[in-house]
Parts: sequence; structure tokens; C-alpha cells
Amino acid sequence: MIKAIIFDLDDTLYNFKAAQRAGADAWAAYAKEQFQLPEEQTRREIEALIAEQAEKMGPIAASHNRVLRAELWLAKRNLPVFPHATALAERYWQALLDAMVPQEGAVEMLRDLQMRGFLIGIGTNMTAYVQYKKIEKLGLGDIVDFIVTSEECGVDKPLRHFFKYSAKKANETLARAGRAERIEMNEILFVGDSVKHDLEGAHAAKMQALLFDPENAHPEEEERIQRFSELPEVLKRLSAEM
Ligand SMILES: [Mg+2]
Repeated sequence: MIKAIIFDLDDTLYNFKAAQRAGADAWAAYAKEQFQLPEEQTRREIEALIAEQAEKMGPIAASHNRVLRAELWLAKRNLPVFPHATALAERYWQALLDAMVPQEGAVEMLRDLQMRGFLIGIGTNMTAYVQYKKIEKLGLGDIVDFIVTSEECGVDKPLRHFFKYSAKKANETLARAGRAERIEMNEILFVGDSVKHDLEGAHAAKMQALLFDPENAHPEEEERIQRFSELPEVLKRLSAEM
């Protein structure tokens, strides 16, 4: 039986790609205002930095840190780090937070799962501060029982430690609520949009896993939903199989 459901955050509970465009626009606007740089060029440069930062820092939360990304960009352009790295990161995140809205049906689904007694977690590759801000912005603060960021556990998904740590935190959360039962790995369902990070990572750690695929990008995957309204059906089937 599934007892806990852990959701990825970015591009699962809200559309990250759309919100990120707003963040990149704010970064580019700052670069134009401060350094007279064309906005389209800045947008291309910061896009290219994502892979470079991941390569440089490896599968840890720092690889997503926007202050560090701004520092990389400023260094390439031979511009001063202070005060621009934090100014860029602040503008980027504020614009992104302002633009983000919950995925269709996400809040209703989470409330339904909460009412049915599932433990609800978030498991996300990112630094803690901004992910907590996103949860508040999405209005999910009173629904989410626990969150694991890669900053807290030390590694990004799909590394197994992330999922082991998440199961441990699920059990600590239950214990704190005075509930005596224990959740095993295969009683946790991990839901996310990434085949590699969410689906394969969770499977390798012996959790149940489900791909959230609203754009129908992975029709080859058996364990997937395209809308959150399909989740109750999946839960029913998984529970029957166990
Ligand atoms: Mg994601």
C-alpha cells in the first residue's frame, strides 16, 4: 500500500520553464540597465551557463545556485561581482516567483491526498531557501508534510542517497506526528517530470515511481500520467498490486 507520495517541484507542481523565462527576462533587463547589453544576447549567455555550472559543480545544489551562476556570468564578461551577483539573483528569483502558478489540478489533487491521509512530501534538486519560498507562493504550505532539497541531503537526484534520505525524513515526520507506523521504500510513490532524475532515480532506490508528462513527451513510459486527475486511478492500481 502506498503511504507517502513525494512530488518533484519544478515542472511538476508548477510550470518551471514558463516561470524561468520571466526570471531570465529580469536578469537581461538588469544587464541592459547596468551594462547596456542587448537582452537577447544575455538570455542566450545565461542559458548556456546552466550546463557549464552543472559540469563545474557536479550533482549538488550549488550547481543550481543563481548567485553562483551570476558570478560565472559576470566573470565571463569581466564585470564586478559585487554588488551585481546578488542583485541579479534577487531580480531573477523575484520575477520567477511572481510569474509562477500551480499546475492545473495540482492544489485540488494535493488536498484530496491530504484528506485521504497520505503523507505528502516534496523532493527537489535545489537550494532550500528559494524552494521554501516557491511552496509558500504556490499556497502549499499547509498541505506539504515535509520537503527534501538536495542542499539538505547533499546530493541531487537521481543519486540514491537523495531517495534514502527522503524516506528517512518521511519516517521522522510520521514519528513527530505521533504515528507509530513505519514507511518502507516500496510504500512511497515518487512523482516527477524527469525520466532520469525522478522515475529512474526512485526506481533504483526501490520506491514506486510515476512520470508526470503533461506534454506527452514520453509515450514509451508505462508509469506515467498526463494530468493530476489521473493519479487516484494509479494509486488504486498500485495498492491492488502490492
Ligand atoms: Mg522537475
